[in-house]
Amino acid sequence: MGDRRAVAPTELEAEIGRVGRVLHDAFPSHRGRPLKALDDRAMDLAGQDEELRAALFRFVDVVPACRSLDDLAAHLTGFLGEVGERPPSLRAAMRMGDTKAGRAALGAAGAAGVRHMAHRFIVGEDPRAALPTLRKLWRDGIAASVDLLGEATVTAAEADRYALRCDEALRTLAGAYDRFPARALLEGDAVGPLPRANLSVKVSALTPLLRPEAPVRGQRDAAPRLRALLRRAHELGAHLHIDMESLDSREAVLELVLDLLAEPEFADGPSAGVVLQAYLRDSPDTLDTILEWSGRTPRAQPLVVRLVKGAYWDHEVVEARQHGWGVPVFERKADCDANFEALTARLLEARPLVRVAIASHNLRSVSHAIARNRMLGGAPGDVEFQVLRGLGDDLGHALAASGLRVRSYCPVGDLVAGMAYLVRRLLENTANDSFLADQAHGVPLEQLLAAPAPVAS
Ligand SMILES: Cc1cc2nc3c(=O)[nH]c(=O)nc-3n(C[C@H](O)[C@H](O)[C@H](O)COP(=O)(O)OP(=O)(O)OC[C@H]3O[C@@H](n4cnc5c(N)ncnc54)[C@H](O)[C@@H]3O)c2cc1C
Repeated sequence: MGDRRAVAPTELEAEIGRVGRVLHDAFPSHRGRPLKALDDRAMDLAGQDEELRAALFRFVDVVPACRSLDDLAAHLTGFLGEVGERPPSLRAAMRMGDTKAGRAALGAAGAAGVRHMAHRFIVGEDPRAALPTLRKLWRDGIAASVDLLGEATVTAAEADRYALRCDEALRTLAGAYDRFPARALLEGDAVGPLPRANLSVKVSALTPLLRPEAPVRGQRDAAPRLRALLRRAHELGAHLHIDMESLDSREAVLELVLDLLAEPEFADGPSAGVVLQAYLRDSPDTLDTILEWSGRTPRAQPLVVRLVKGAYWDHEVVEARQHGWGVPVFERKADCDANFEALTARLLEARPLVRVAIASHNLRSVSHAIARNRMLGGAPGDVEFQVLRGLGDDLGHALAASGLRVRSYCPVGDLVAGMAYLVRRLLENTANDSFLADQAHGVPLEQLLAAPAPVAS
C-alpha cells in the first residue's frame, strides 16, 4: 500500500481486542430462530460425545445409498446401537425401530433431519435454485462464491460434465448478478472494480488424471477445461477461484493456474484467485512463489489470494505417518494460527501486487487482519473476508454490519454429491481444536481473542 505504517505489537494487540469485542457484540441474536438454535444444539451434543459423533457421521455417510425409509431406519438404529450410554430420547428412537411402521417413521425423521442439516450448508440443487439465497445475501451486504459439489472425477466424461456445469453456472450467475442492485463495497476496492459473479472450482474435478506421481499428465489433461472456463469468465466479467485440496496436488494445481494466467490472452482478465493453506509448514515458501510470479506477471486484475488454514489436516497427518514421512502440517494449533497471522501480515503488505481474502471463522484471526489492515492505513474495502455458508453466517453478518466486505462460500448440488462436503463441515464444527467449538462451549471472549503462541522453530 502506498501509505505504509509500522505496526507496533502492543498497539496491535490492543486494537485486535477492540475490533474483536465490537465484532462479537455485532453477532446476530438467535432469539426467534428456533431451528438454528436446534441445529446448534445437535452439533453441540455430537461434539460432546465421541461415540455419538462417530455413529452420526457414519449414518450421514450412508444416507444417499439408502433405497427406502426402512433401509434408512435399519442403518440409524444400527449405528445408534453402538453408542454405549444412550440418552432417553435415543432409547425411545431405537424402540421405534422394532416395528415396520416405527422403522418407516424413524427413517423419515432421520432423512428429514439430514436434509435439514444439509440445507444449512448447501444453498440449492443447482445455481438457478440458489439464486433466491444469493439475492438475499447480496441484499444483506454479502457477496458469494458458488462451489459446484460433485463426486470424485474418475473418467474424462465426468470431467467434461463438471466443466460444462461450471460453464453453465458462470452464465447463470453473471446473468442474475447483473440484475442485483448496486452495492459499492462489494463491487470495488482501491485497485478497481470487482466482479459480482464468482465461482470456485476444483482442479481434481476437471481431470481424472491428477496424481502426485505424474503431475504433468494431470496438468495437461485439466488445462483445456480450465482454459475454457477462464475464457468464459473473462467474456462474462466473472471471477474464477481455484480451490486448493490436499498437499499431493498442491504443486500441480498452483503451477497449472499460474502458467495459464500468464498466457497473453489472460493479461486483461478474468479476475482469478488461488488458495494459500497456512497449516502447511512450507506455506511461507508458497507465498514467495506467488508473490514472485505476481511481480513478473502484470495483469489488469491482481491475483486474489484466499488465505485459509486448510481443510485436510487429519488426512495430511495420517498419510504422512502411514508412509513414515515428516508431517507437512503444523501439529500444534497455535503454530498454525500464528503462521496464519504472519501470512496475513505479508499479504496485506504485498498489496496491490495481490488482492487479499481472509477466509476464517476464528474471531481472533479475523480481528487480527482487520486491526492490521487499519494500522497499515488500508481502507475497510481493501481486504475481503470469506466465510463458509452454514458455519460462518453469524460472523459474516457481523462483518457486513461493521462495513467490511464479506463473501460467503456457497456450495450448490444435490444431497448425494454434498455428503462428503457435509461430513467435512460437521467434523470441522465439532473438532476439539476448533475455534467454533470453543466458542460454542462458552470459552470467555478474552481467551478467544488471545494471541496464539509463537510459531515453534
Ligand atoms: C471461504 C472459505 C473457503 C475455503 N476454501 C478452502 C480451500 O480451498 N482449501 C482448504 O484446504 N480449505 C479451505 N477452507 C477451509 C479452511 O481451510 C479451514 O478448514 C476452516 O476455515 C477452519 O479454519 P478457521 O480459521 O475457520 O477455524 P479454526 O478453528 O481457528 O482453525 C481450524 C483449523 O486449524 C487447523 N488445525 C486444527 N487442529 C490443528 C492442530 N492440532 N495443529 C495445527 N493446525 C490445526 C486446521 O486447518 C483446522 O481446519 C475454506 C474456508 C473458508 C471460510
